[in-house]
Amino acid sequence: MNVMVKEHLVPAKGRRPLIVMKFGGTSVGNTECMERVAGIICEHAKRADLVVVVSAMGGVTDMLIRAATEASHGDRQHWRGVRQELARRHREVNDRLLSASEQAKVLPRLAEQVSNFENLCSGFSMVREVTPRAMDTLSSLGEVMSATLMAAILRSSGVAAEAVDATELVVTDDHFGNAAPLLDETHAKAGQRLAPVRRRGAVPIVTGFRGATRDGVCTTLGRGGSDYSGTILGAVLDADEIWIWTDVDGVMTADPRLVPGACILPEISYREAIELSFFGAKVLHPKTILPVMKKKIPVWIKNSFNPSCPGTKIGPATGDGPPGVKAITSVSKASLVTISGRDTMSFASLAAKVFELLDLEQVATLMSTQSSADNVLCFAVHDADVKRVKATLERAFELEILHDYMPPPEIMPHVAIVVVIGEKMKGTPGLAGRTFAALGRSSINIIAIAQGSAELSISFAVKSSDVKEAVTAIHGEFQL
Ligand code: ASP
Ligand code: MG
Repeated sequence: MNVMVKEHLVPAKGRRPLIVMKFGGTSVGNTECMERVAGIICEHAKRADLVVVVSAMGGVTDMLIRAATEASHGDRQHWRGVRQELARRHREVNDRLLSASEQAKVLPRLAEQVSNFENLCSGFSMVREVTPRAMDTLSSLGEVMSATLMAAILRSSGVAAEAVDATELVVTDDHFGNAAPLLDETHAKAGQRLAPVRRRGAVPIVTGFRGATRDGVCTTLGRGGSDYSGTILGAVLDADEIWIWTDVDGVMTADPRLVPGACILPEISYREAIELSFFGAKVLHPKTILPVMKKKIPVWIKNSFNPSCPGTKIGPATGDGPPGVKAITSVSKASLVTISGRDTMSFASLAAKVFELLDLEQVATLMSTQSSADNVLCFAVHDADVKRVKATLERAFELEILHDYMPPPEIMPHVAIVVVIGEKMKGTPGLAGRTFAALGRSSINIIAIAQGSAELSISFAVKSSDVKEAVTAIHGEFQL
C-alpha cells in the first residue's frame, strides 16, 4: 500500500528518530483499516525507529465489558454470542491479511484469547460477580488480539515486527480500572524489554490500555487509555515524537457539528489541549498529556484515514502566532447548582464543605463562581452527576435546611458550558469584551461567567438551546 507521508520530523544527526505511534480503535476497526495502518507503519519504518501501540478493534472493549457484566448478572447466553463475534472479527483479519505461515502461528494465539474470554465469563456467571481486577484482565483482551494480528500482518508483508504485551512494560499502581503509571519503574522495565526487539530491527507492537502492578497483575489505564499508553511509553523511551492516529484530521477550532465552518488547528499548546479535553473536545484525555509535558515531547494528532494531512501538533507553547482566542469548546448537557450559606457559615467554610463532598463523590465541576455579599456558591456539573450532587448536599446540610438556616440547593437544568480557550489570551485586553458583545448581538443571555487568573480560558453558562448559536457567534467574532 502506498501512503503519502508528510515529513515534519528533523532527526538528530547520526541517528534515526524514535516515534511512538498509537492507533485507536476506529483506525484498526476492521480488516481494511488494519491493512491501511500496516501500510502507514511500513512507510514510516523506513525512516524512523517506531514503537507502535494499538487499541482493540473498534467496539471490542465495549463488547467485552458488556459480556462480563451480563455474565456477572447470571446471564449464561449473552457472552456465548459475544464469543462468536470476537472470534469472527479477528479471524477475518487473520484469514485475509496473514501469510499461511503467520496464520499457523497466530490462530492458536487468537484461540487462546477467546478461550480466556470464555473461561473468565463462565467464572463470572458462576460466582455472579466480576471484580475490578478480573474485569481488567478481560476488558483488555481486545488489545492482545489486535496487537498479535498487527504484528503478524506486518511480518506477512516483510516488515519485522513483534507483538509485546504491555503488562511486560507498563508498571502501574493497583487502582484497577483506572490505574496510574509508575514512571520510573516503567522506564526501567520498558527499556529492558524493548531493547532487544529494537536491536533486532523489529517494530514492537504494544497492547494499549493495559499495564500490570509490580506483582504482575494486569491493570487498565481507564477507558480510552491507549493514548495514555502511547504518551507513557513516549516519555519513558525519550521518543522524539508521539503520533496519535485517530479518525479525524486534527484538533478543531470548534465542534464541527455546532459550527460547520470549524477548521483544523495546526498547533496547540499542552495546556490548551488539556483545557479542550477537560471540556469534552475529542482530543486526548487530560492526564494523557502529563507524562510528555515535562520532557516537551510533541504529540501529533493524525488521521489514519487521511494520512497525508499533517494533523495537529500539541507541544510547548511557542512565542509566535497572534494573541487571542484559539478554540471554543462546550459541554451541552450540564446543570448549575447554587447553594447559599446565608449567615450560617462563612463563604470559605461553605465552599470547603461543598468541594470536599464533591471530591468524595468524585464529581468534576465544570466551572464555579462566588458571590460573597450573599454568601452564594454556584457551580456547574455534568447532567449525569446532578442527581447525586443534589442528594449529597441535601443530606450534608439537612439540619441547616430543616431549620431554615439555609435554603435547599437550587438546580438549574438544561445548561451548556461554553469555554473559550487560548494560551495567548493572557494580558490581551478586549477579548472578554468581544466574546460577550458577540453573544449580546445574538441576544444570548449569559447565566454565569468564570475566568481564572491564568487567563487560559473564559467559561460561561448559557441555556442548552443557545449553545450552537453562542459557539457560532464567538467563532465568527474571532474569525477562527
Ligand atoms: N480499547 C480501550 C477502550 O476502548 C482503550 C482505547 O481504545 O484507548 O477504552
Ligand atoms: Mg477503544
